[in-house]
Amino acid sequence: MILQVQDLQVAYGNIQALHGVSLEVNEGEIVTLIGANGAGKSTTLRAISGLNRPKSGTIRFQGTDITRVPAHQIVAMGIGHVPEGRRVFPDLTVRENLELGAYIARPDTFHKNLAEVFERFPRLKEREFQKASTLSGGEQQMLALGRALMLQPKLLLLDEPSMGLAPRLVQEIFGIIAELNKRGTTILLVEQNAAMALSIAHRAYVLETGRVVLSGPAAELQSHP
Ligand code: ADP
Ligand code: ADP
Repeated sequence: MILQVQDLQVAYGNIQALHGVSLEVNEGEIVTLIGANGAGKSTTLRAISGLNRPKSGTIRFQGTDITRVPAHQIVAMGIGHVPEGRRVFPDLTVRENLELGAYIARPDTFHKNLAEVFERFPRLKEREFQKASTLSGGEQQMLALGRALMLQPKLLLLDEPSMGLAPRLVQEIFGIIAELNKRGTTILLVEQNAAMALSIAHRAYVLETGRVVLSGPAAELQSHP
């Protein structure tokens, strides 16, 4: 097991967002977290990557308790997080976006990682020296994903990678996610489009108002929506 979340409770002031969420991710899996808006999906991802401090509960990554580990250290341990909404630096070029942070964090493999990201995303290579603000929505989403891949995460947390994208680009992004997984990256995927998520996931958890209400193999949940 690469990730084990036990009885996680997270609050924003008086608002209790998670009421004891437990979930597990095995090495090599794509696990999806689905549920309505406000169910607590993003909060769960943010707690795992150290951006939200839980009130109680435990998060273990490769057997190590990371519940109170600072976010930058969690990144260094191998958890990548692509937050919702195409987080790129608009005034920097594509290449600068990819370089930022990665050059310091992974100096030994930096050039190899950059070449790999460009190989995986030919559209980014073509736009290497363009400002990120000139990219389309789908290309910015790919750049955000590319930035996370520069750090060679063992576990990748993806928050709504398909949001606001044209159907063709959604297919393309999901194809890339499946391919990344085949090459060895374990993925925890948050999605509103449950059908799409279940089509590439091995297992799924359904969240409702901060609780897991259903979980199981993706194929089973697909037939019982
Ligand atoms: P989802 O990702 O499933 O849409 P979220 O994790 O974003 O759900 O939100 C879970 C709950 O926490 C919701 O009730 C939401 O309104 C609340 N919430 C999320 N972020 C904040 C925040 N920064 N401040 C206050 N409440 C928040
Ligand atoms: P939230 O919307 O989740 O409350 P912020 O918008 O403040 O939080 O940003 C969350 C994280 O994303 C921060 O670490 C911030 O540095 C990073 N971030 C915000 N905007 C960008 C951006 N344009 N490019 C890259 N990272 C960004």
